[in-house]
Amino acid sequence: MIIAIDGPAASGKGTLGKRLADHLGFAHLDTGLLYRAVASVLLGQGIPLTDRDAAADAARNLDVSHLDAPDLRGAAMGESASVISAYQPVRDALLAFQRQFGSLEPGAVLDGRDIGTVVCPDAEVKLFITATPEERARRRHLELVRRGEDVTYETILTDIRRRDERDINRATAPLKAAADAITLDTTNLDADGAFQAALAIVDRKRSKT
Ligand code: C5P
Repeated sequence: MIIAIDGPAASGKGTLGKRLADHLGFAHLDTGLLYRAVASVLLGQGIPLTDRDAAADAARNLDVSHLDAPDLRGAAMGESASVISAYQPVRDALLAFQRQFGSLEPGAVLDGRDIGTVVCPDAEVKLFITATPEERARRRHLELVRRGEDVTYETILTDIRRRDERDINRATAPLKAAADAITLDTTNLDADGAFQAALAIVDRKRSKT
């Protein structure tokens, strides 16, 4: 079974995806980390993010064994990832790995922007997680401050709005809910509430198959 979770930056889809996967005994892939890792390779080599060919090369040769590197999760890397993720060759290069991950047994949870629309269009469960930009900024700010980053709420809110704008309006694999996705607005839900709501959707689906 594949569970596809899409949604905008800091909507809580990563936390939700991991929790669902742990609960169900499924594998979990936060696909944003792939794009963050590609951006990190470029930045590490002093290559501008506007160099599409270098970005595509970095994606083709990506070492996926270091996706848990803490520096990938910083605010700056999210912004950089959103720049290179708009390049079609970068997306193409990362597609096979994501699809292969989706075929893991007994199941896989993938979260990102285009999982239900492009990567796993046949996923049995598709969730689209949203929350207002202000609530997402509040959560992300708390998370980054806890990790020791010196960043203001206003900076995060501006970053989230800019990333939403870029992710929604790009020509290739824009952020949008799949036609058959169930939208879950978590603005007034905590992590437990979001998990319970998502699990109920998954259980309903599993009881029908
Ligand atoms: O989810 P996260 O914030 O880590 O993603 C960083 C950036 O990577 C996003 O803003 C988006 O531009 C890009 N991304 C994407 N497709 C995905 C996952 C992430 O384009 N499946």
